Amino acid sequence: MGRRLLFLGPPGAGKGTQATRLAKALGIPHISTGDMLRQNVADGTDLGKQAEAIMHAGDLVPDDLVLAMVQDRLGKDDAACGYILDGFPRNVSQAESLSAMNQLAGIDQVLLLEVDTEELVQRLLSRAKDQGRADDNEESIRNRLDVYRDETSPLVDWYPTNGVSVASVQGSGSMDDVTARLVLALAT
Ligand code: AMP
Repeated sequence: MGRRLLFLGPPGAGKGTQATRLAKALGIPHISTGDMLRQNVADGTDLGKQAEAIMHAGDLVPDDLVLAMVQDRLGKDDAACGYILDGFPRNVSQAESLSAMNQLAGIDQVLLLEVDTEELVQRLLSRAKDQGRADDNEESIRNRLDVYRDETSPLVDWYPTNGVSVASVQGSGSMDDVTARLVLALAT
């Protein structure tokens, strides 16, 4: 135990990039619900068909669909010694469900990546150009930032209330600098 980490932070903060790096360094799986959902869309599964339009608009996919997917993933052998969650839980209800499935809220430590809103929008718009992600259009970006503020950011208080510490890490600067800050935050 001690290796069940959760990345929190607004869209565009660099959670995916940093979670991938940290997971490799720690030898634990990086579990991204956004990546899993995009894979389902690409594969044309039932779940993908149900999620596609919702994701395109930047809204949240219904909790029951996401929970079933996560429960299945966390039951796999490679998740037995820890994991880095990225993009889940996305609201208090999902956090409560994860908590009910696991000991100690299912998370040992939260890493909060903080980046200015202006920089986030710039990063998301340039990601739209580079990667062509369907939900990186301006309207969806605005909506996803609102959804983060209204639905997800309350978790920054929910976790400490439920006995899990939150380490805030500055997410601006070079990728290597951010990784170094995260490693430091984990060691302290
Ligand atoms: P992400 O890659 O984490 O930014 O997720 C992309 C999109 O997938 C989000 O805007 C949501 O539409 C959907 N999504 C990802 N994770 C969740 C979740 N835990 N609950 C609901 N929807 C999610």
